Amino acid sequence: MNNDVMKNKIFLETYGCQMNSYDSELVCSILAKANYALVPTEDEADVVLLNTCAIREHAHQKVYNRIHEIKRGHNPAGGGAGGHPVIVGILGCMATNLRTELLENRKFKIDFIAGPDSYKRLPQLIDEAAKTEVRGGEVRGKGEEVRKVFDITLSEFETYSDVYPRRERGVNAWLAVMRGCNNFCTFCVVPYTRGRERSRSVENVVEETRRLAGEGFRQVTLLGQNVNSYFCEGADFADLLEAVSAVEGIVRIRFTSPHPKDFPEKLLDVVARNPKVCKHIHLPVQSGNNRILELMDRTYTREEFLALTGKIRVQCPSIALTTDIIVGFPSERDEEFRDTVALMRDVEFDSAFIFKYSQRKGTIAARKYPDNVPESVKTERIVHLNEIQKAMSLKKNRAHIGAEYAILIEEEPSERFPEYIQGRTDGNKLVAIPKADHALGDFVQVRITGASANTLKGVAI
Ligand code: SF4
Repeated sequence: MNNDVMKNKIFLETYGCQMNSYDSELVCSILAKANYALVPTEDEADVVLLNTCAIREHAHQKVYNRIHEIKRGHNPAGGGAGGHPVIVGILGCMATNLRTELLENRKFKIDFIAGPDSYKRLPQLIDEAAKTEVRGGEVRGKGEEVRKVFDITLSEFETYSDVYPRRERGVNAWLAVMRGCNNFCTFCVVPYTRGRERSRSVENVVEETRRLAGEGFRQVTLLGQNVNSYFCEGADFADLLEAVSAVEGIVRIRFTSPHPKDFPEKLLDVVARNPKVCKHIHLPVQSGNNRILELMDRTYTREEFLALTGKIRVQCPSIALTTDIIVGFPSERDEEFRDTVALMRDVEFDSAFIFKYSQRKGTIAARKYPDNVPESVKTERIVHLNEIQKAMSLKKNRAHIGAEYAILIEEEPSERFPEYIQGRTDGNKLVAIPKADHALGDFVQVRITGASANTLKGVAI
């Protein structure tokens, strides 16, 4: 590998949430600026970066399997794809969460790790790893002491406000406005893997939004681990939404994920009143039972959550509400699970992401509460909730038949349905319409003609 003239060829693979997708765009920008070449397949690469997620065990396992696959495929003796030695770097939440496991475990043979606040140092970390020999998980510089190549320092300040992400052209752009979380919900690794909350300035976010509009993006989705706790130099999240909505060319603004505790009147008013702010709120409830909510340290009760959703619906009747739910949290009893079922029926979410509790290393729940709900019970509960939600989504979607909406075309026709193009309503419902001569980024007025639990069908009018 020549590290001087021709920089390494990098292949980057991303797992997990939208924040990781955004971070991967930052990584591409940082590496391109340092003259690294980004390649579309791992076979062409001599450095493979995995931007990882630590939110569930399943996500970990996927990454471990990929590390084996990549190292095996690139081992000339193994004769696999690529056929040359490759450097493997682990980025993202697993890097901070599992540093010791990843670096000490000889099975994994990774070459370096970089936490979510260390991407500006990636060029150095890659160069350093390239100059070393890997001996079963240990990194030994030629003739040097055993050492390990990593940087997982978490910052108290926004690290990337001066980096403009390298994005694919498109309709929607992800835009991180704050990072980290101060909430310490007991099941969650985010405060440990991504550190404390810090926000970018309004001017900085608006400047990036202007640039995005200039590049043809029509929608921005503001991101943060706890997006509505955004606060910078006296400006709160409602102020930020207003400022971003003043950018010409941007027609829709979405945001994810908010916490139910941070919904002051002022924010609800902006969502209800500002036509560019989409009428969709993803509002993770996690459980409908007060004892479980307390064990999770969610800081609201079931009654407060119901009061909030009621208030949102009064102020903004067209709002679509979606949620996240965890089933089988430690010690969750049947009758407590039934409270979650009742809450789902009360609120009638438009859709829900439902997960089985998965114990995460280093969290408060992992230290304090044994993961004692049997897997079979977790499965029963998730199946039950998914059935309820599916019926609810279908009922809600059918209620749109005959209604007219403006959709923003966001997705090219799929291979399965090449004659259809897809857009979203303000409330984030996916609508498929005959392709005709519509193109990405078009606003099309449609009438809804059909509905399934996941999508709507329509015709342009
Ligand atoms: S609010 Fe809770 S669940 Fe969300 S990122 Fe923070 S700690 Fe995790």
